[in-house]
Amino acid sequence: MADRSELLRSLPSVEEVLARLRAPGPGGEDGVSERSLAEAVRESLEARRQAILAAADEASLGSLTVPSREETVLLIAAEARERLAAARKPYLVPLINATGVVVHTNLGRSLLSAEAQRALLEAASRHTNLEYDLRAGRRGGRGEGVARLLRRLTGAEAATVVNNNAGAVFLALRALAEGREVVVSRGELVEIGGSFRIPDIMRASGARLIEVGTTNRTHLRDYEAAISPEAALLLKVHTSNFRILGFTAEVPLGELAQLARERELPLMADLGSGSLVDLAPHGLPGEPTVGEVLAAGADIVTFSGDKLLGGPQAGVAVGRRALVERLARHPLFRALRPDKLALAALEATLRAYLEPEAALREVPTLSLLTEPLSSVSRRARALLRRLRPEARRALGARLAHVESQVGGGALPLSKLPSRAVTLAPERLSAAALDARLRALEPPVVARIQEQQVVLDMRTVRPEEVAPLARSLARLAEELLGPPNVGPPNGEGAADAQSAGG
Ligand SMILES: *Cc1c(COP(=O)(O)O)cnc(C)c1O
Repeated sequence: MADRSELLRSLPSVEEVLARLRAPGPGGEDGVSERSLAEAVRESLEARRQAILAAADEASLGSLTVPSREETVLLIAAEARERLAAARKPYLVPLINATGVVVHTNLGRSLLSAEAQRALLEAASRHTNLEYDLRAGRRGGRGEGVARLLRRLTGAEAATVVNNNAGAVFLALRALAEGREVVVSRGELVEIGGSFRIPDIMRASGARLIEVGTTNRTHLRDYEAAISPEAALLLKVHTSNFRILGFTAEVPLGELAQLARERELPLMADLGSGSLVDLAPHGLPGEPTVGEVLAAGADIVTFSGDKLLGGPQAGVAVGRRALVERLARHPLFRALRPDKLALAALEATLRAYLEPEAALREVPTLSLLTEPLSSVSRRARALLRRLRPEARRALGARLAHVESQVGGGALPLSKLPSRAVTLAPERLSAAALDARLRALEPPVVARIQEQQVVLDMRTVRPEEVAPLARSLARLAEELLGPPNVGPPNGEGAADAQSAGG
């Protein structure tokens, strides 16, 4: 058994390991610069030195012992190779969304339409008239194309676009109410998730929050009593990710608009999702469209580009020209403006809405939400059919009736009927199986319900069915095979408990 100093002395030099890595033969580090190679070797050597120093006792030192110098060189070389490979591996990878949540913020919200993808690629690879007036031959307005489409699609006098809806709300509060009061119902002081909370964004904008009413009931008289000479804005926030049920009251937007007019204050509505088409005929609860909210009397309306709209990340503000211009002319606008790729994709997405039926077909968020159950069901059956009976048995795979969610803080109570393939293998807990699915290439993100892994097929694309089936077949083979089913690192605890129930 080696002692610490002997082990430290046995460490090879950087040069020795580099010589090994440079040697011809399989595993040669083609295309890797000398510098990256040396750095990876130094890091690997240092990691081993630290492990030796950190080893608490004789026994743990013993586990670090290797028979020969040659073996140590090989070991460090192999580790350096791994380090190089890991550094080159992309962190951001495509995955299969089997959660059934159509607008999933953690998974990148909306997928872009083919047209939007094309526009985005073009804006990325060629120069464009982003803020250049082709007719006049000089500088022009940025985002003029999206503004024109938004005016047409919502009936607003003016429109502007920033980086995201949080930015649109922030900019509107700052530009319209800095140092003054904004009146909001207590029932609408929402947190969207992440760190977007109305009271916090209000404070950051420099506007003063005046809360009215109670959590469950707010009346027009509450607003009337709260409006002081310091008031600059009435704000209505769409409670997009929850519902208060039972004994409730909120003031309809139309009545609030009337009050705002009487007191000569603008009324702002933060819609969150903001739909441009009525989804009620497609089995989703009707929420007022952006155009309807404007028609009901809101003076400025903000919403996201990548929630129900189905475009890229963006924040839209539409409404009265004088108000929208205050946003667009504010010094902070420059800090919040969208990039050219988002503008290109947003413009193409909005163009699809010129024919709402086309938007329902072409904008993936809308087509996923409105896809008939029969078609989702066919996809679930197709996945099951691709698995051999013994694989299906090993995975405990079954067809199940489930409900998908819209997500993105949209239509919180609406559940879309869907079909799933559920997995409940006898030899693996749901948590362990879920971890296995996430470790696949491409990773599969599912949900766990009642000790089963649920693969909701509404959000699984047709072209993903075959690769998903292949991955599941491999997992089934591992479960069936005699070699022990080693848990992936760190999943030992979850693996130990059986599927149960
Ligand atoms: C989602 C949401 C926001 C924030 O929008 P982002 O696009 O995520 O910046 C703001 N307000 C409401 C009501 C929302 O639902």
